[in-house]
This record gives sequence, C-alpha cells and structure tokens, in this order.
Amino acid sequence: MRKFSAYVPRTIITARFNKSFSSTAAVRINLALTSEQLELQQLARSFTEKEITPKAAYHDKTGEYPSEILKKAWEVGLLNTHVPAEYGGLGLGVLDCTIISEEMAYGCSGIQTAAEANGLAEAPVILGASEALKKKYLGRMTEEPLMCAYCVTEPIAGSDVAGIATKAVKKGNSWVINGNKMWITNGGKANWYFVLAKTDSTANAGKAFTGFIVDGNAPGVTVGKKEINMGQRCSDTRGISFEDVEVSDENRIGEVGKGFQLAMGAFDITRPLVASAAVGLARRAYEEALKYAMERKTMGKPIAEHQAIAFMLADMAIGVEAARGLVHKSGWLRDNGQRNTLYASMAKAMASEVANKNAADAVQIFGGNGFNSEYPVEKLMRDAKIFMIYEGTSQIQRLIISRALIDNAKKGIF
Ligand SMILES: Cc1cc2nc3c(=O)[nH]c(=O)nc-3n(C[C@H](O)[C@H](O)[C@H](O)COP(=O)(O)OP(=O)(O)OC[C@H]3O[C@@H](n4cnc5c(N)ncnc54)[C@H](O)[C@@H]3O)c2cc1C
Repeated sequence: MRKFSAYVPRTIITARFNKSFSSTAAVRINLALTSEQLELQQLARSFTEKEITPKAAYHDKTGEYPSEILKKAWEVGLLNTHVPAEYGGLGLGVLDCTIISEEMAYGCSGIQTAAEANGLAEAPVILGASEALKKKYLGRMTEEPLMCAYCVTEPIAGSDVAGIATKAVKKGNSWVINGNKMWITNGGKANWYFVLAKTDSTANAGKAFTGFIVDGNAPGVTVGKKEINMGQRCSDTRGISFEDVEVSDENRIGEVGKGFQLAMGAFDITRPLVASAAVGLARRAYEEALKYAMERKTMGKPIAEHQAIAFMLADMAIGVEAARGLVHKSGWLRDNGQRNTLYASMAKAMASEVANKNAADAVQIFGGNGFNSEYPVEKLMRDAKIFMIYEGTSQIQRLIISRALIDNAKKGIF
C-alpha cells in the first residue's frame, strides 16, 4: 500500500481510504462529492501543482518519458487506483478515479495518459483473470512502481477490433502468440502486456478471441521505436511484435473465446477516466483563457469585457461543467452496479470534443501568443486531439450510443 504523507492531510489513513471508498457509491445520493472524495481531489490537485504542471513543458519539448513523476505518483497512491484492496491496491470506484484523472490531466494529459495506461491494461485482468494471476500481476503493480500496457490495436485494425489478426495457438500447456500490435501506450516501458489474440479463426468476434498476459521480457517480444505524435508527446507509444511468443496457459485471462468481452468490458471502467482527463484539459484551457482575458487589454479594456470573448469563456465553462456531469454519472452508474456502457460513451464523446473546442478557443483568446510555445495553450490544443481517437474514436462512441438508443426504442424504452 502506498503512503500519502507528502500530499495528504494527516487525517487520512489507509484504512479510512479503503473503508470510505468502498462504501462511497452506496451512500452517494446527490451530486456533491463526499468529504473523502474532496480529500482525494485535494491530494491529486496538490500533487499535480507540485509535480506535474511545472514539468509539463519540459516533457512535451523533449518527449522524455516522465519516469520520476510516475514513480512519485505511485508512492503517494495515484497509480493503479482501481486495483482491489486484496491485491494491495486502493480499490477505488470509477467515480473516485475520475476525480484523480481530471486533476492529473489538468497538469499534463500526456503524463496522465502514461499513468492511466496502467489502469487500461489492469482492467481486463480485474474483470476476468484467475485469483493466482491477479495476485501475481496486479500484486506486483502495488509492490513496485511498474508500468503495463493494453495491446489490442494492430496496424490493420483499430476501430474494427474484430478484424485483428494476432493469433494464439495451443501447444501442450502453452499458447504460441504471433502478430503485431500498434499504438501501444507504455509499449516500451511495460513490465507486462494484456494481449488480445485470435484463438478460433472460424468463430464470430464474441467467441474468437482470448486475452493473455505476456511478460515484457518474454523471448519473441520486440518493442518498436517510440512514435513521434502530435501531442501527449512524453507518453510512450510503440508497435509491439510477438514472434512465436510462448505463454503458459496459466497466463490466459478467463475462458478461451471470451477475450473480446474482456477487452471491450474494460472500457466501461476506463472510458469515464479518459473522459475525465479530457475534462481536466478543458478546464485548464478555460482557466488559462479566463486569466489571460482579464489581463490583456485592447481598445481600452480587458478583452474579457468584449462580449465576443466573454461569451467564448461562458461556453468554455458550460462545456466543462456539462462534460464533468456526464463523466460522474457514467462512473456513478458503474459503482452502483448498473451497466454504464452508454453513458461511458456519451461522456467520452462529449468530453473529448469539449476539450478540443476549449483548447482551440483558448488559443484564439491568447491571439498571437496562443500560437507560441512559450504559452501553455498550444500544447493543450495538440494534446486534446487524441481524446477523440484512442479508446474508441468519436465516431465509434456515436455508433455505440446510437445502437443502444435504437435497441431501446425497439423495446419501447425512450
Ligand atoms: C497515441 C495513441 C495511443 C494509443 N494507445 C493504445 C493502447 O494503449 N492500446 C491499444 O490497443 N490501442 C491504442 N491506440 C489505438 C487507438 O485506440 C486506435 O487508433 C483507435 O481505436 C482508432 O483506430 P485506427 O487508428 O485503426 O483508425 P480506424 O479504425 O482506421 O479509423 C479511421 C477513421 O474511420 C472512422 N471509422 C472507422 N470505423 C467506422 C465506422 N464503423 N463508422 C464510422 N466511422 C468509422 C474512425 O472514427 C476514424 O475517424 C492508441 C492510439 C494512439 C494514436
């Protein structure tokens, strides 16, 4: 279990965290955060102010992976936050985790993405792995500051997950994996990978795939070059090749043929977190723009007093509040044992688009300065774009939402 000493009010002790957060969902009957959630927010905010925001520009310019920051985040308990307590984690609810990701992404969404990729790889393990596998691979994440990665996308298929071609073939008590994954966050830093592979080439998607844990140092695993991306540049994105990689059957996650459900089920936990990170970026853009607009004068008054600018600021604030509302609802539903797939997609679609709008509007409000890397907002605009792409593009979210709406309508549910 991590220590919180450097950032947490002394009143918070680990036992209280575990007790409070496990019961948070049941007692939350209004839109206010609980006192424990406010303390968690304060922890993440203080950490971000001290450790992330001042170093964000450096990591953006150099592309250097934020190893030291992630290690400190692990030490204070801001990594692997939804790993259950029985494996050494805090076992926080989805809503609790959204509070953390919003704060961290306010400082730098590239650093937050590196942190969050652990949660993405861990989610299918939490959902479906054997007790022994959970103890081994989730347990080690809470014992050491390690990273892991979720390997689903391939050069030939991203949105079309059913189209992936990586294969796993049974050989005695092992599986032999062959294939190429692409755009894997934490790809070059991972201690282990969650890998989705085809185990039955004749079956439909619901039965064709199986999930495995592959050790990062397994023979046959080749890590590609670090990709140079438009934004979130310190996040480590790579292609990973698997060539005759032998994996024990013990490293299979859940039943053979049930991998697609695990890989997609993970998104019910992680899409609210991606969405909340987008809210964090949107809030940062809004606050930077507001401060600037109150200082910068044209035609004898601060530009915030020109209605054209004031209304942009108003729209930015509306976007942040509305997107956060959807994020919290999607987390709350999940924490209360209700299916949240529809709301997770709504939150992700909306928050990612609010982030892009707010970042672009912030650049506009900064004028020429907004276009310059000495000011913080051009980075926000570059960083924001990926929120509309990873963990399902905005088009794919709308596919999920519209299908759910139409299915419901056919049943008379409106
Ligand atoms: C920086 C970064 C980090 C990433 N991290 C990971 C990771 O850790 N693990 C992982 O597995 N993957 C990761 N990804 C992959 C990411 O999830 C995919 O890029 C994304 O799902 C889109 O897939 P694609 O790139 O193949 O685009 P495509 O699927 O080829 O889509 C191209 C365009 O077509 C649209 N489109 C596709 N199908 C439809 C449809 N049916 N209807 C309407 N429009 C459609 C898409 O919305 C998009 O605009 C990452 C990607 C990036 C860039």
